[in-house]
Amino acid sequence: MTAKEIHEKAFVLDSHCDTPLAIIRGQDVSKRRKLGHIDFDRLKEGGVDGVFFAAYTSNSLAPDEATRRALQLVALTHKVCDENPKKVGLATTVREARELKAQGRTAIFIGLENGSPIQKDLSLLYLFYKMGVRYMTLTHAGNNEICDSCAPKEKRWNGVSPFGVEVIREMNRLGMIIDVSHLSDESFYDCLKYSKAPIVATHSCCRALCNHPRNMTDQMIKDLAAAGGVIQINFYSSFLDPNYSKVAGALCDEFDESLIDYQLHPRCKRRKERYEKAKEALFAVPRPSYKLLVDHIEHVIKLVGVKHVGLGSDFDGIESAPDGLEDASKFGVITQELLDRGYSQEDINLILGENFLRVFNEVENLAMK
Ligand SMILES: [Zn+2]
Repeated sequence: MTAKEIHEKAFVLDSHCDTPLAIIRGQDVSKRRKLGHIDFDRLKEGGVDGVFFAAYTSNSLAPDEATRRALQLVALTHKVCDENPKKVGLATTVREARELKAQGRTAIFIGLENGSPIQKDLSLLYLFYKMGVRYMTLTHAGNNEICDSCAPKEKRWNGVSPFGVEVIREMNRLGMIIDVSHLSDESFYDCLKYSKAPIVATHSCCRALCNHPRNMTDQMIKDLAAAGGVIQINFYSSFLDPNYSKVAGALCDEFDESLIDYQLHPRCKRRKERYEKAKEALFAVPRPSYKLLVDHIEHVIKLVGVKHVGLGSDFDGIESAPDGLEDASKFGVITQELLDRGYSQEDINLILGENFLRVFNEVENLAMK
């Protein structure tokens, strides 16, 4: 079987993108757009069958603002699915996602990136579940009421807070996946300790290949796998390649700011010029090949076997994707590379989506509804 045939047959799942941020800035993702990485046409072209749209909130927002922002992003995700029933459908279970694939539609799942919007109230967690949220990244780049993040030097709880333990138990009860990307190492271990269900890193890489606190150590990957979980490899050049992150750091910040400003004011010439200048400067830095992404996948396989790794692009939340994997239309290169490296169709299916779907099913089955 060719890579193209394997790719088409497999359920290809991307466990994390920030596309709702593009929607809230006024971008139309229902058809091909010039900016960013994901729209419904490019998902189709790349053979992506399911994708988690993240409702991201910054840790800098006040609690009520965070809740409002998350509600807006969840609402917009529902709206864009409702308005494009031929192309996509909102999915809340693995079964719904497979049905959508059979109909030739892309399954859109919702994840909550940062637990701050639930404030200190489990009834809000319940409400987000009812609105279709199927994983929650417990925090983002700051410590919150639930746990510590990997980003700040000063930690607040030295892991998960007492309220965070209640959150984990309630997520287990509801059947919501616990996402440990962005967490401190101590928070990760507390999640393993308290969760009865397997946990997931929806968009992280291997620290052994790129020493960044957002990535996981070999020991963490081993412990995650022993508990049945999965690490979904992030496509961000700076998390894949230590050399790239050294050179591109400051350029990424300017690119990010100018892109957001341009998306918010698409008719402004000055903002367009600023964005194009920032893009040119950033894209002058040589990006790692998508083959490095496959090296991260292989690193996990060598550590724990083929059943604990998958894909979490972080598209529309990252400034630069690997060379050859510029946007969602290019997912097929990963399948080709895995086939070239000698992986079987069965193994490729696991990596492309089945590993994540297995965990999703287990979390659902363990839930006490
Ligand atoms: Zn993230």
